[in-house]
Order: sequence, then structure tokens, then C-alpha cells
Amino acid sequence: MNCIFCGIADGSVKSQLIYEDEDVVAFKDLNPQAPTHLLIIPRKHIARLSEADEKDVLLLGKILLVAQKLARKFDLKDFRLITNNGKGAGQSVDHLHFHLMAGRRFLWPAG
Ligand code: AMP
Repeated sequence: MNCIFCGIADGSVKSQLIYEDEDVVAFKDLNPQAPTHLLIIPRKHIARLSEADEKDVLLLGKILLVAQKLARKFDLKDFRLITNNGKGAGQSVDHLHFHLMAGRRFLWPAG
């Protein structure tokens, strides 16, 4: 399997790493869409949220808490946390990731 985000997680692909622990990695998005745009991923390869299952419950919760920790660290009061699930929703990398974005106004509903 050739997965760019698995490569970032294991260090074989360069990234601007922001956070890592035994389960979760966060790094700067290569093509930022907001002044702060980080990606938070599980080290475990899960292609998208719809492919996670009950075994991943702690991991999914941990990702949310890492997002909270990073928002605090960077003093982000208003931020958006999103995951695109499937091509039709805008997913371009098949490894579960959450976009943590801040620093501009966001429209709702999301485009
Ligand atoms: P999505 O379209 O939701 O799948 O988001 C994938 C994101 O990954 C996009 O915002 C890309 O800019 C970003 N991306 C792709 N390759 C890399 C990389 N090597 N390092 C950092 N971000 C990346």
C-alpha cells in the first residue's frame, strides 16, 4: 500500500510536524486554505471515517482531544474541524484525516 499519510506518520515522508504521540500525528497542510490549517491523522491506516469501527472508538476520541489541545496551544478560539468522507465530499487522500482550520471567517453551510 502506498499511502502518503502513512509515510508522514512513520517519518519516511517529510512534513511540517506539529504534534505526535503513539496514536496520532498532526502536521501542516501543504496547501493551506486558512491561516492555520493542520491535518490530524491516526497512525493506523483507516481510509475514511466510514471505515472505522468499534475498535477505533478510543482512537477517534483521542483525535478530537488532540484537536482541542492544538486549538488551545495555538490560542484558536474559533476553529473548524472537518473530515471529508469520500471523493464526492472532497476527499483526495485515502487516509482518515481531520482538517483543523482557523484564522479567517468560514461560511455555513460549508461549500
Ligand atoms: P482532503 O481533500 O480532505 O482529502 O484533504 C487532503 C489534504 O491533504 C489537502 O488539503 C492537501 O493539501 C493535503 N496534503 C496532501 N499531501 C500532503 C502532504 N504531503 N503534506 C501535507 N499535506 C498534504
